[in-house]
Amino acid sequence: MRKDFLIFGNPAIEQPEIDEVVDSLKSGWLGTGPKVQRFEDMFKSFKGTQYAVAVSSCTAALHLSMLALCIGPGDEVLVPTMTFAATANAVIHSGGIPVLVDCKRETMNIDLEDIKRKITRRTKAVVPVHFAGRPCEMDELTELSKKHGIKIIEDCAHAVEAEYKGRKVGTIGEMGCFSFYVTKNIVTGEGGMVITNEKSYVNQIKTLAQHGMSRDAWKRFSDEGYKHYQVVYSGYKYNMMDIQAALGIHQLPRVEKNWIRRKEIWDRYNEAFAHLPVFTPLPTESENRHSFHLYTLLLDIEKLNITRDQFLEEMTRHNIGVGVHYIALHLNSFYQKNFGYRRGDFPNAEWISDRTCSIPLSAKLTDDDVEDVIDAVTEIIKENS
Ligand SMILES: *Cc1c(COP(=O)(O)O)cnc(C)c1O
Repeated sequence: MRKDFLIFGNPAIEQPEIDEVVDSLKSGWLGTGPKVQRFEDMFKSFKGTQYAVAVSSCTAALHLSMLALCIGPGDEVLVPTMTFAATANAVIHSGGIPVLVDCKRETMNIDLEDIKRKITRRTKAVVPVHFAGRPCEMDELTELSKKHGIKIIEDCAHAVEAEYKGRKVGTIGEMGCFSFYVTKNIVTGEGGMVITNEKSYVNQIKTLAQHGMSRDAWKRFSDEGYKHYQVVYSGYKYNMMDIQAALGIHQLPRVEKNWIRRKEIWDRYNEAFAHLPVFTPLPTESENRHSFHLYTLLLDIEKLNITRDQFLEEMTRHNIGVGVHYIALHLNSFYQKNFGYRRGDFPNAEWISDRTCSIPLSAKLTDDDVEDVIDAVTEIIKENS
């Protein structure tokens, strides 16, 4: 058994990021400034969109996207129940109502058949989450959304490198939202990005992210001299800082290299777990590109004499960090109390919630780390089957 604890989602940070942060600290320009602008420019050329706005988190990106679509009280937004709380909470922050939708067992992505059942006159938008990095069925979703006059906001928190039939995810809906939280594929500590090709959305998002001050208010203290601004909305404090962008501008060019390393680890896991009573992730659809963000092992609990939670404890005892992505939203007390959801409402998401365990998949893992994870999983499963 390994001696030290292997942290789940350990970020791969290198010297250029460290130097760039130090440079920001020495320059005195800590807040939103030239490095944020550079990171936005780099991100929009990476994605091939007209606009990119850096913000403080993906949650902020999702919230501002809702507001740009004028989502408000009484409006319904379809959200998968198999996601992180931020996806649904952003709807609630805007005043709208998150309407939960089941996922497919195999892909863990939002189920289009269940979407059809949940659409009403009040449905304004849908938020597909490209789960674990696997692109959702965007052609079918786009067709459905056009038919019903529903807008699409893509939650790409897991999927910065993913592509759907040759198109980069985040560029297919009205807006795409990204996360640079510490465990994600690009890391700025906290941080997020909205991309779009629609100018009116960008103007709204930029203004609302900076207290509702008229655009480019951040330049008011620059060497161009003090500029007056107008507060045109009661906005939010959602801007990204230069200290964060300092990390992003060096992380982004390494995104491909890290993806290749995670794919290697992914393939090694698939091979190692093929004969155990577990379900490994479905192979990627041949026309798509998976971003390999989360390796979700599904325990075949009917063939095991431990529960998923006992498995988590055992992994921790073996010094391997693990995660759960996720206990479906409708199993959380808040959504039950406020929206009346109960266990039984979404069978596929519940099936996953009871069995899923994410194991380390950082580009930082050494080959020895990967073998330690495999040894721990294999030992625990064999002892309990
Ligand atoms: C991490 C995550 C978010 C939120 O990202 P933050 O940057 O932490 O706000 C939203 N959606 C999904 C699916 C996530 O995994």
